[in-house]
Amino acid sequence: MENAGKIETEKVQIETEKTEIETGKKKMSDEIQTIYDFDPSLIYEYYLGLERQGPGSPEMTLKALSFIDNLTDESKIADIGCGTGGQTMVLAENAPGNMTGVDIFPGFIDRFNANAGRLNLRDRVKGIVGSMDDLPFQNETFDLIWCEGAIYNIGYERGLTEWRKFLKIGGYIAVTEASWFTEERPAEIQAFWDAAYPEIATIPNKVAQMQNAGYVPVAAFILPENCWTEHFYAPQIAVREKFLEKHAGSKTAKEYVALERHEEELYNKYKAYYGYVFYIGKRIE
Ligand code: SAH
Repeated sequence: MENAGKIETEKVQIETEKTEIETGKKKMSDEIQTIYDFDPSLIYEYYLGLERQGPGSPEMTLKALSFIDNLTDESKIADIGCGTGGQTMVLAENAPGNMTGVDIFPGFIDRFNANAGRLNLRDRVKGIVGSMDDLPFQNETFDLIWCEGAIYNIGYERGLTEWRKFLKIGGYIAVTEASWFTEERPAEIQAFWDAAYPEIATIPNKVAQMQNAGYVPVAAFILPENCWTEHFYAPQIAVREKFLEKHAGSKTAKEYVALERHEEELYNKYKAYYGYVFYIGKRIE
């Protein structure tokens, strides 16, 4: 029964996402297929098999954490769009305080809480189902807001602006965001990102947006290639095989895997032009 309730919530969320796609809230392109063209439940199933749901690594989570100097045992930390908690558990094992992970997909949160239990972190790490555009928090709750590979779901500028109120004065925000490394780039990769996430911009632009959203930009650094190759794409090889086996005969599943492979090829071809960047900012007033 409990599960039935969860599935119901999930269905509602998936319907909401579909409506957003249909009403054009999430930009789509007629020519270029993006993940928005697929049923979210299929995407969730694919990603549930992975330790991380976005590019990143424990080393880079720790590097970003090294800029945060305000944490104590009393600190409160939110990890928004936490997925199954790959980075949250790294944070919890290396920083004091209480962590709340928030994700819209109940299946990820179940896995997140199981991971916290397995690592004996349950007393200070908790995952809850919620949406980043309607977070269930009081103003000035957190000493740190973390968000790896997820702010694009509501957009970087909107996320930074709306989440600021949840930070205490003196609190930090640390997010990763897709960014251009150059002012110009080949048409093929430009077209791909225009369809997938038109808010992608150069690093100086993203830093300026952080400042405009009311933070002092503290640091920005590019995630190294192995965050994509070793930690994100390599684990997908086995997942793709299992996924295709399970969905044998499904054209949609085949197309979805082909799209994931295509994205990986694009990354390998154009990685000099774009990547993920960690942006860290501080709320000072
Ligand atoms: N931070 C994790 C997951 C990144 S993938 C990692 O780096 O591994 C993006 C995550 O955002 C997914 O877990 C997805 O379920 C979540 N997400 C998408 N839309 C969301 C929303 N509106 N609110 C909260 N989480 C959302």
